Amino acid sequence: MTLDPHSPGVRAATDWDYAPAPESAAIGRVRDRYQMFVGGSFVDGGGDDLETLNPATAQPLSTVSTASVADVDVAVGHARKAFEGSWSRLSGAERGKYLFRIARSIAERARELAVVETLDNGKPIKESRDVDIPTAAAHFFYHAGWADKLQHAGFGPSPQPLGVVGQVIPWNFPLLMAAWKIAPALAAGNTVVIKPAETTPLSILVLAEILADADLPPGVVNILPGAGDIGKALVQHPGIDKVAFTGSTQVGKQIQRALAGTGRRLTLELGGKAANIVFDDAPIDQAVEGIVNGIFFNQGHVCCAGSRLLVQESVADEVVAKLQERISTLRLGDPMDKNTDIGAINSAEQLSRVTALAATGEDEGAVRWTSPCPVPDRGFFFPPTVFTNVSQSMRIAREEIFGPVLSVLTFRTPDEAVAKANNTPYGLSAGVWTEKGSRILGVASALRAGVVWANTFNRFDPTAAFGGYKESGFGREGGRSGLAAYLNTDDEGI
Ligand code: NDP
Repeated sequence: MTLDPHSPGVRAATDWDYAPAPESAAIGRVRDRYQMFVGGSFVDGGGDDLETLNPATAQPLSTVSTASVADVDVAVGHARKAFEGSWSRLSGAERGKYLFRIARSIAERARELAVVETLDNGKPIKESRDVDIPTAAAHFFYHAGWADKLQHAGFGPSPQPLGVVGQVIPWNFPLLMAAWKIAPALAAGNTVVIKPAETTPLSILVLAEILADADLPPGVVNILPGAGDIGKALVQHPGIDKVAFTGSTQVGKQIQRALAGTGRRLTLELGGKAANIVFDDAPIDQAVEGIVNGIFFNQGHVCCAGSRLLVQESVADEVVAKLQERISTLRLGDPMDKNTDIGAINSAEQLSRVTALAATGEDEGAVRWTSPCPVPDRGFFFPPTVFTNVSQSMRIAREEIFGPVLSVLTFRTPDEAVAKANNTPYGLSAGVWTEKGSRILGVASALRAGVVWANTFNRFDPTAAFGGYKESGFGREGGRSGLAAYLNTDDEGI
């Protein structure tokens, strides 16, 4: 900070510069090579080894053994044996003990897991440390508590597990998505075969060590690193009783088509294009923070990101000006630095997708504003970007960009806001900013979105059901409804 020489004692324009505050990569104890986790053992798979990169440097981080299609069969066999042999017969209290043990170990190894996640994914260490890892532990704690209470959850006197569950997860929240899927499945008495995303296999393989240390019976959880073909073989395997998928709408549709008529249960958590609606009576400064969190959290790699800002016309200029001012202060760069707000894009492919889709915004006539922040000259980075003058027909208003890009549209009346918010094939989440409680309730009930946040955004809790409408998928994860998705019960609990 500098003092204005012309007005002694008065602070002039600030010149903040943060000293580097890097977390130590050594805490992650990243190994040179990792193996699959199948039947309770760490084993090599029949697939080619894959090299996982640090997206902040584009340099290799580690090597991972991957599964072949034959390994899928072996893993499903182990999961079936574990289901029929012991796991489904254990009392809920015993299953709960394992889940509590896993939750405690995640908490104990939280710092290591946060570093591994940031190195492999590119997200800022402050997010992996404060959001991803604690929320992953919270999912195990929460579901551990349910394991011995299922008969009191309103699913009938004796709800039964489904059997072997096949799970496929994306790269945006690698450990959190693993916890989100594995914890309810185990609490309900199922066994699991899970495939992480190709670009982020490491944190779930550290979780495998935690599962092994917890003495989880062999085969209860099997982890198969690999590419999309392994995901496909897994979800289509005849030995699977239920599929749970999180990822793109395009792949979700393929899975739904493949499973149609098989009688196997399916939950899909797919893409989104959430509207974040700001009314003129909203606390503007608070809303600006919520808009920033809504779209720039995790570089916008969030299915429920508030990527469409709908702002009431009378306050649009004020909101956009304050937004640009605030975004200009966000620090983009080394994800391992504790002061970094925006980290790296997860892969070169995702960076080129974001770049190409953002370019269509200008081509179609929107006005582009980019944060003046410096961009590192290596690694995969994309500066925070805001488009104004956006119309509903533009691709940047319709398609999931999955990056730090915000499209701003305006409205005059609440009805217009709702109509525009719902004018999307997606329906995962939305936000409403207003001082009036009655308006929150009215607008929220008119929005076709699975989750609606009021005067906040991107809040996640294992007790709250999360899921979508329309092309955002179906089924719920978290809360009582999330448990129902892993149980044989007529009541889906939604
Ligand atoms: P995908 O849907 O392709 O990937 C999600 C997971 O599914 C990964 O583990 C992937 O494996 C696996 N997979 C790929 N193909 C198949 C298949 N045919 N059957 C079963 N599993 C499969 O998403 P991408 O990573 O390619 O991202 C593309 C776009 O999808 C993003 O730009 C974003 O818009 C959207 N997306 C949305 C997410 C969300 O949470 N809503 C999450 C991720 C992406 P592998 O990693 O090896 O390809």
